[in-house]
Amino acid sequence: MRKEPVKVKERDSVSRAGDFEEVVEGFSEAEALQEAARCIQCKEPKCVSGCPVEIDIKTFIGQIMKKDYDGAYATIRQKNNFPSMCGRVCPAEYQCCKACVFTKKEEPFASREAVGIHFLERFIGDRGAEKGLRIEASGDGRWPECKVAVVGSGPAGLCCAGELARRGIKVVVFEGLHKTGGVLRYGIPPFRLPRNILDFEIDSLKKLGVEIRANTIIGRAKTIDELFAEGFSAVFLGLGAGTPSFMGIPGENLCNVYSANEFLTRVNLMSAHKFPEYHTPVNIGRHIVVIGGGNTAMDSARVAIRLQNINGIKPDTAIYYRRSEAEMPARRIEIEHARDEGVRFELLARPEEFMGDEKGFVWKVRSSRCELGEPDSTGRRRPVIIPGSSFEADCDLAVIAIGLRANKVLTGVTPELAVDKYGDVIVDPKTAETSIKGVFAGGDIVGGEGTVIEAMGMAKKAAASIIDYVSRL
Ligand SMILES: Cc1cc2nc3c(=O)[nH]c(=O)nc-3n(C[C@H](O)[C@H](O)[C@H](O)COP(=O)(O)OP(=O)(O)OC[C@H]3O[C@@H](n4cnc5c(N)ncnc54)[C@H](O)[C@@H]3O)c2cc1C
Repeated sequence: MRKEPVKVKERDSVSRAGDFEEVVEGFSEAEALQEAARCIQCKEPKCVSGCPVEIDIKTFIGQIMKKDYDGAYATIRQKNNFPSMCGRVCPAEYQCCKACVFTKKEEPFASREAVGIHFLERFIGDRGAEKGLRIEASGDGRWPECKVAVVGSGPAGLCCAGELARRGIKVVVFEGLHKTGGVLRYGIPPFRLPRNILDFEIDSLKKLGVEIRANTIIGRAKTIDELFAEGFSAVFLGLGAGTPSFMGIPGENLCNVYSANEFLTRVNLMSAHKFPEYHTPVNIGRHIVVIGGGNTAMDSARVAIRLQNINGIKPDTAIYYRRSEAEMPARRIEIEHARDEGVRFELLARPEEFMGDEKGFVWKVRSSRCELGEPDSTGRRRPVIIPGSSFEADCDLAVIAIGLRANKVLTGVTPELAVDKYGDVIVDPKTAETSIKGVFAGGDIVGGEGTVIEAMGMAKKAAASIIDYVSRL
């Protein structure tokens, strides 16, 4: 008999748009059991192939069915150090869920909804965290003298550190910011990823022996050569893609035109919404325009509308995107959440100029309407400006969220580290080793912006290569 999918509970859109508490509530035990029971335990499960870290999905769902939750936790942990995090932020609809047999067009499963694998992973991860279950060490003590430097504490760096530490290798993570987590902390807002979840996972790494040195920019405080000179046997670079892209249109330098990175960092990392309790302020506009169609744009708009609500400003936050909704790279769920919370969508609209007042603050944006032309190199239909369609709108705060590139702080002072034309570090695809012997890399610094789990997948590969490398020293 066909079993209906369990819809995960969410807080109502009015109350949640007025705070930073988590939006998606997750499965109860009864709901997790009901959803797990939809899995038909395929003989040859395809879902695993959709997971960049190859979690044994069939087994852990089977364990949930038998209420063996600790077993399910152990199964997930074998491949994924951060289940509660991934269960929240993974774009599962493009990964494991997309590969679920239920999404196939052919009978007998045609037009069924994929099993909610990520919600089940989150249920198990949260349950494990509540019980205080942590990453287990599986080291054999073969490397008492060996230590590895991990640069960057985003998902790539943390994952690599965890993989090495659980094998008994001493790891020191160097992070340029004052707090760890990379985009997980300064980019993704707490209403999508509560900070206690992130803190638990990072604390687990510390308990495994990982040492974290914050406020240390490698390339400024010390070079890669100095790390080797200090006795590190190998180095992993998980530098991310932290440099924002701009449109190059007039008025981008006006006051109150933020990059998404700065806007989100001020709020998510520096708690600017609690100013003056915290020292960093953020301006809040009456008419906010967010430019872009990806997750970063959705996060920026959802943060912006919360700031307006919290400060008693009648919400007016709009996303400007030059293509249609179908081409938006953001997750569908994030688009729906943004819309439900009151964010307006100006689709097929391309900002051309920000206009400023006499004090240099933005006060209007001029845009053109677009229509869709032929597909471009990305396969998405190209936006074509409609002549004479220019229009103006009030805008006293703008957030530009059109993409991120590699930052060159480290690569710029390390000429022997080969990079491509985008400034991304080039690695051997089999080993993740860079052009410098003993230096490995993964995450967004390799190949540009990706996803959390893809960054972790690359980091795991690099960790395996590092273990192999140090074993041969
Ligand atoms: C706003 C936003 C929302 C997103 N939402 C999602 C989502 O919902 N799901 C998803 O899967 N992906 C999402 N992504 C993408 C995802 O977050 C990234 O793919 C992922 O974080 C990349 O991990 P990373 O470890 O390579 O880099 P990062 O997370 O960027 O971490 C890099 C870290 O390295 C540090 N660093 C850089 N250079 C140095 C240096 N020289 N010395 C010391 N430290 C250094 C940085 O300060 C940073 O902490 C989102 C991205 C953004 C920006």
